Amino acid sequence: MKLQKEIRTFCPYCNKHTVHIAKSVVAAKPATTRGLSLSNRRRERKLKGYVGKVKGKTPVKVLGRRNKVLLECKECHKSIERVFGGRTKKKLEIKR
Ligand SMILES: [Zn+2]
Repeated sequence: MKLQKEIRTFCPYCNKHTVHIAKSVVAAKPATTRGLSLSNRRRERKLKGYVGKVKGKTPVKVLGRRNKVLLECKECHKSIERVFGGRTKKKLEIKR
């Protein structure tokens, strides 16, 4: 996915459409579950024996990352964060 360096979009501070400068934000790593937490130990203990369904859901793996872009307004110099493309495996490129 390619993005222009300058985008004309809505600024909530100016309350109108202005030109923004795009900067990519490095997304934080998705949170991992603690393997030795009490609930995980209890779940493993339950699954060890002859049991049916154990309550609770198994964690679902999140596919792809959100491409966050920091848009800085040229008029008021305030910035807003925005996600482009939802959860995609494609990398976001900002044109120069
Ligand atoms: Zn603004």
